[in-house]
Amino acid sequence: MNVYDSQRMADALAADGYRPTDIMEDADLVLLNTCHIREKAAEKVYSELGRIRVLKDERAKQGRETVIGVAGCVAQAEGREILRRAPVVDLVIGPQTYHRLPSVVKRAKTGEKIVETEYAIEDKFEHLPAPGRKSVRSRGVTAFLTVQEGCDKFCTFCVVPYTRGAEVSRPVTQIVAEAERLAEAGVREVTLLGQNVNAWHGEGPGGNEWGLARLLLRLAEIPGLDRLRYTTSHPRDMDDDLIAAHRDLDKLMPYLHLPVQTGSDRILKAMNRKHSAADYLRLIERIRAAKPDIAMSGDFIVGFPGETDEDFEDTMRIVRDVNYAQAFSFKYSSRPGTPGAEMQDQVPEKVKDERLQRLQALLAEQQHAFAKSLVGGEIDLLIEKPGRQAGQFVGRSPWLQPVIVDERAGRIGDIVRVRITRAGSHSLFCEPMRNLNADPMGAAKGESV
Ligand code: SAH
Ligand code: SF4
Repeated sequence: MNVYDSQRMADALAADGYRPTDIMEDADLVLLNTCHIREKAAEKVYSELGRIRVLKDERAKQGRETVIGVAGCVAQAEGREILRRAPVVDLVIGPQTYHRLPSVVKRAKTGEKIVETEYAIEDKFEHLPAPGRKSVRSRGVTAFLTVQEGCDKFCTFCVVPYTRGAEVSRPVTQIVAEAERLAEAGVREVTLLGQNVNAWHGEGPGGNEWGLARLLLRLAEIPGLDRLRYTTSHPRDMDDDLIAAHRDLDKLMPYLHLPVQTGSDRILKAMNRKHSAADYLRLIERIRAAKPDIAMSGDFIVGFPGETDEDFEDTMRIVRDVNYAQAFSFKYSSRPGTPGAEMQDQVPEKVKDERLQRLQALLAEQQHAFAKSLVGGEIDLLIEKPGRQAGQFVGRSPWLQPVIVDERAGRIGDIVRVRITRAGSHSLFCEPMRNLNADPMGAAKGESV
């Protein structure tokens, strides 16, 4: 979501003549887009600001001014405290007010220190400029599109409801218009984003409410958009229509990120997840019945307060039961203001380390086994960008794995049929079969295999 937000901020500033640069020394404006989800991410901001201060001093010696800003959830959570801890900062702006960024930057340039973290009453998406065709092109053939923000679920470990605010769904017409612009600029795969994206319930064109399944069906009609994904989903919001969409909609990729966090019912309850381990397993059974080749992904937290060895073994068990193609796992990080931070029985760091190691070993094993199971089979590959080595492109499998392919297989943005020949530790290798973008009669085009 921060990647998407950063792009929207860059688009908003483009109107004032700002252009992105990869060289920080050249930047007249440095905006850190920050994450508050775990302590490590939040603390990184201050070490980064230390480096930026040196840079600002250097530039000042050359008579060049630099405006320094902090955006994102750390900005939202810490506000004025950031100015106190890091006086180098000129502006602090929370995620709800990015549409005000151009005016905030102008004020900051006059020397004013600004903290803009009120929840805006106006809809920021209506006021942010639409992604420019040129900027979309330069960003590639896959794109994110935020459809839902905020969260009303209040899991006891999580800061999101406090930093991103209440759940808000963007209306259908806004989303479709943005998706059409992306498709016109050459984007072939769109990932719909939301803190709980499957809780999305937006206003339809006729004023009635739509669910995510219906939105996906509508987006599948947009010419040029061939692959749809959505993330992150909450198990409680996985409704029948959405499961049916996985069965019926070829453009919906067979991959689902559905975090469970823990396999222990006791800890699930303490986390306020409002479902049991058995509920989650039953749900996955239904999803797999509808879409047998779906690959599961998840998030896990080890060492939530009160987690015993037994609870952790329940997590290992659920991982074995589900068999994940991919997953993210974290040590519990106590976040100020959340109920989890007040709980007794915080788990020692050493225990968290051991559990994380064991869990990650199991998840890595499953991930590799999944990759190996694809060897010898054919898949469709979306070519995304040049590879690290000359003569190679990198693309993505339907299951989000990076796949290395010979550049003669097609062009960036093509979907090509390939046979997987080998599973490396981070990517798959393949031999091209045919370019599905070549004309349907199979007459070989210059760029196809
Ligand atoms: N809305 C999603 C998750 C959003 S946060 C959901 O409910 O599943 C992304 C992930 O960060 C979470 O799934 C969780 O695994 C992790 N996370 C959130 N807060 C955390 C904390 N305090 N400590 C460790 N990991 C955390
Ligand atoms: Fe955080 Fe997700 Fe729980 Fe919302 S549902 S509080 S975003 S973990």
